[in-house]
Amino acid sequence: IIMSIKVSNITKLYGQQKALDHVSFEVRTGEIVGFIGPNGAGKSTMMKIITGFIPQTEGEVWVNELDTLEHSLEVRRMIGYLPEHNPLYLDMYVREYLEMVAKIYATKGHKGIGEQVDGMINMVGLGPEQHKKIGALSKGYRQRVGLAQALIHDPDILILDEPTSGLDPNQIVEIRTFIAELGKEKTVLLSTHIMQEVEAICDRVLIINNGRIVADDEADKIQSRRKEKFQTIEVEFDKSIPLEKFRKIHGITEVKKVKNRHYLIQAATGEDIRSAIFQWAVKNKFTVLELRRREKSLEEVFKELTS
Ligand code: ADP
Ligand code: MG
Repeated sequence: IIMSIKVSNITKLYGQQKALDHVSFEVRTGEIVGFIGPNGAGKSTMMKIITGFIPQTEGEVWVNELDTLEHSLEVRRMIGYLPEHNPLYLDMYVREYLEMVAKIYATKGHKGIGEQVDGMINMVGLGPEQHKKIGALSKGYRQRVGLAQALIHDPDILILDEPTSGLDPNQIVEIRTFIAELGKEKTVLLSTHIMQEVEAICDRVLIINNGRIVADDEADKIQSRRKEKFQTIEVEFDKSIPLEKFRKIHGITEVKKVKNRHYLIQAATGEDIRSAIFQWAVKNKFTVLELRRREKSLEEVFKELTS
């Protein structure tokens, strides 16, 4: 497995305040990793350190096996960075700004700068807006300008700090789809507040709280791998059943009627009690229409780990 980013024991102090506390994780080449955590958890600080925007207090970061402090320029060539709040020069024209960024990166391609900027404008869908001043663009289009500046030197790795924050639901889907598309070719580390975003596009999730990593797992395993001390089962019968009948089921601690013939059964055990429920129903001649173990949502896991 090739690692694009390796973060080892990073601590960051702002004066007395510890923003990151011995953070370690890795991002494999080709992955889209979601970086989530409450406000002030340290996401932006971590991203600024990876991109070389600010130095760490302690620890090391390697990007494509290069130490980010020793090889700062090479590392910056390999990374595209969309900072939080997407800082842009509002008085510049879209084209003018992107040409400036291309010149700063001194991108060496076969194409000239003009052609390169054209390509990028098409790629992020800025065609109709390219002759406007950035200040005249809607937030969604500004975000595309931010993505274009992050992509203009064709980096292998993208660091995107809340790329969809402040956008309306349609714009969110557009940008998200674009990022998922980019993720087919690039390694992406993306911070977000939106759990569905992580569920929709990320291969892996990192959860950070108070400057510490509290979860690091595949996106679809993070819920199920957590050891539960209780479980909730949803059952639907073909008719209503008196609550006291449920007492016969071994291990149950609570039963609630949620709708007409829908019940929530809780058991204080991690062991699956679905077959016990089924056997009990058969014995009592109750017809089960649906029997389902409730999975925790990423949102619930997030709340548990960070509140
Ligand atoms: P997040 O991006 O997860 O919201 P940040 O990395 O922005 O978190 O902030 C982590 C902590 O560090 C917060 O408590 C924040 O107030 C503090 N912090 C961030 N930047 C600075 C700074 N330049 N000076 C002092 N404290 C800072
Ligand atoms: Mg932030």
